[in-house]
Amino acid sequence: MSTGWTTPAPDALRATAQPRVAELDPRSTPGFIGDKKTGQLLTAQRATVLADLQEMLYANGRSGDRRSVLLVLQGMDTAGKGGVVKHVVGAVDPQGVSHTSFGVPTEEERSHHYLWRIRKALPRPGQLGVFDRSHYEDVLVVRVHNLVPPSVWEPRYDEINAFERELVEGGTTLVKVAMVISPAEQKVRLAERLTQPDKYWKYNPRDLDERALWPEYQAAYQAVLERTDTDLAPWYVVPSDRKWYTRLAVTELLIAALQSLDLRWPPADFDVEVEQQRVAALTDPTS
Ligand code: ADP
Repeated sequence: MSTGWTTPAPDALRATAQPRVAELDPRSTPGFIGDKKTGQLLTAQRATVLADLQEMLYANGRSGDRRSVLLVLQGMDTAGKGGVVKHVVGAVDPQGVSHTSFGVPTEEERSHHYLWRIRKALPRPGQLGVFDRSHYEDVLVVRVHNLVPPSVWEPRYDEINAFERELVEGGTTLVKVAMVISPAEQKVRLAERLTQPDKYWKYNPRDLDERALWPEYQAAYQAVLERTDTDLAPWYVVPSDRKWYTRLAVTELLIAALQSLDLRWPPADFDVEVEQQRVAALTDPTS
């Protein structure tokens, strides 16, 4: 049996191709046949492809191209959002990356519309933006905890769709990733964080309170997928109990998004031959 992708990641992982969140197997590896070692090897190989594409996006941005890519990461605590940032996004040149984590809104943020802080963090032309949590918290944690009444969060789905349409029309390609883990795997990862002092910083006692609301979160995620998965701004559902698969899958989703831009290296805005001759003729200015 050959190993590798049997279905391209964007097709295998599209929200519409996946079971409901509550029925999804978080240990599954949609579209991919292969073990951990094969997956890790492939991720390492594909990371160089991703890095080249991102460099091309950045180069074009420097030459006036307005386009950008925005990776939106959502998932329960310990789903591995930080790992994706470190291992997948970490493989590309940080010059072209803008990363933002969205935590509990500050007093200033609360005094504005919920999209205010999101707009401020959008990637500039040529950048790969990464949102660790996002505007979706405003229909996830906010809905689960009734932080505002339904009459306030309910219209947000349509508002988010309109907002994302605006982003896409402005040249941003969105890659929205919902990372799904099992309660059992979360327990393992929480326990791990308590085994060593270098992991304590990742542990938050409040995460256990969120865990108790698992079914409510599943319902809130399901609503997000049903109401905000659009062809312009699709959702990908990534089973995330196996970290190696998550990282491989997100690498492929980003590569596919960048490839869809059909990027070329920007042409020189100078006469290459003339400059070659000038450089060849250079002498040591200190002698
Ligand atoms: P993480 O848990 O991702 O490592 P933090 O410790 O900063 O990062 O926690 C982020 C917390 O902020 C999460 O519990 C999340 O639900 C919460 N949060 C994010 N956005 C909002 C929001 N708009 N309203 C309320 N809580 C939010």
